[in-house]
Parts: sequence; structure tokens; C-alpha cells
Amino acid sequence: MPEFFDIHSHLHFPDYDKDREEVIARMLERGVWTISVGVNLETSKKEIEIAEKHKNVYTAIGLHPHDGPDDVSTQTFNEEGFAKLVVHPKVVAIGECGLDYGRSKNDPNIPSDTITEADKIRQKKDFEKQIDFAAKYDKPMMLHVRNAHEDVLDILAAKKKIYGEKLRGNAHFFTGTTEIEQKYLNLGFSVSFTGVITFVKAYDEAVKYAPLDMIMSETDAPFVAPIPHRGERNEPSYVEQVVEKMAQIKGISTEEMKKNLVNNALKIFRISL
Ligand SMILES: [Zn+2]
Repeated sequence: MPEFFDIHSHLHFPDYDKDREEVIARMLERGVWTISVGVNLETSKKEIEIAEKHKNVYTAIGLHPHDGPDDVSTQTFNEEGFAKLVVHPKVVAIGECGLDYGRSKNDPNIPSDTITEADKIRQKKDFEKQIDFAAKYDKPMMLHVRNAHEDVLDILAAKKKIYGEKLRGNAHFFTGTTEIEQKYLNLGFSVSFTGVITFVKAYDEAVKYAPLDMIMSETDAPFVAPIPHRGERNEPSYVEQVVEKMAQIKGISTEEMKKNLVNNALKIFRISL
């Protein structure tokens, strides 16, 4: 049994090219399992290769909203390509996908209000295609949402009428209000939190609000390392700090929190050991 489940990391990133095997060995030592997430077709293939070699690594495959084409008028989710990957037993979710109005696709320094309508339309089309794809293959979704909860929830609510229980998953790196959180929960989506909760109090309410069976732990490694690693490269082993902080915020023991988080990950992503 895993001790910890980091349900969102990116082990394919070049940040790990020099020591990927050591990073995964450290995870095994500490009983840390992860879902390592692809952001386009190529990196999804790479994630499957990594997952194949390690019993504690699973993967999610999909197209990140910022991994579309430079020409925003073309639609890019390659269903044929992903259909070849989704049948792999280590693929447990579709994503990360969703909408990101938080920064310009090509330049993170360009503020969100300069995101064009054409880019939004392209993002929505790719997101809807991935919802249909997830329903077709009966997989949970790994959602990436930034400054776009309203549009994401509208799309999910409309698709829920078609797919019912089949449409489900997790809102990764959740940073919304409890009101928004409730809307995801109503649609059958859990929420997960990163190491940001170890150095910012802004999401304590959202952590407290999440039901114990609909909350998950993640690192989003190599990004946002928790205290005491803040500013360093992150890695899935550091999920331990996220879990400790979650337990503290929820006012329960770390042991109980750990057990819940592992059970939730296994249940929501239908992982049988
Ligand atoms: Zn991610």
C-alpha cells in the first residue's frame, strides 16, 4: 500500500533528466506514489514510458490548455493519437485539460486580459473534445483551471446532462472560493491542493471545506515546492509536507489524513493494487 499519493506531478519535465531514477527511488523509499501528467501527445507518451518502468508511477494523458498550436484557429486535440495511448493500463485519467485565461499562451508576462477570443474558443473546443474522450473511455478527468471557473463549470454542467456519472474527476491545484468548490463537488469532481498551502493561508478555507472523501494531495512538481523546500525544484516525495499541512488545517491526525488521501486517490482514479 502507498503511504502517500501525489496525484499530480510531471516527471517527464527536463528538470529531471539528470536524476529521474533517483527521484523515483526516493519516492519508493518513502512510500510515495504519483500520477505523472502529460501536457500534450508527445509528453503523454513519455509519461507512459516512465510509468511502465515503475510500480509507483501512474499517468494522465491529455492536452494542457496552453499546449495548443500557435495558430489559435486550428483545433489540436489529436483523438486518434490519444486513443492509442488511453488503452494502456497505467493511464488512469484524461488531462491535464481545461481552460487557462490566466496568462498569454506564448508569453507568461502578458496579462490575462490580452488573451484573445480566438484563443478562448480554441481552448474550449479542445476541452470539450477531451471531455467527450474521457466519457468515451470511462476515465476521470484531471482539470487545469485558471481564471476560468465560470466557463469550465458551464461546459461541465452541459456535458453532465449528456454523460451523467461518467463525467467525473478532479480539479487540480484548486485555488477557488468555497462556493466554486461546491459546484465542482456537485458535478462529481474532487479537489486537490499543492505545497502552496504550506506558505499561504488563502486556501485554508477551501481545504477545510473539502469533504474528507473528496480531497486529494499533490505536488505539481517540479513547480511550487512546499516549505522547507520552497524555491527549490519540487519532487513527489515532498507531498509529505502537503499532507501534514492538510491534516493540521483540518484538525485531524496526519495518520488519518494519509489514509484518507491514499484511499481517495485509489478510488477516484480506479487504481487496483
Ligand atoms: Zn500540472
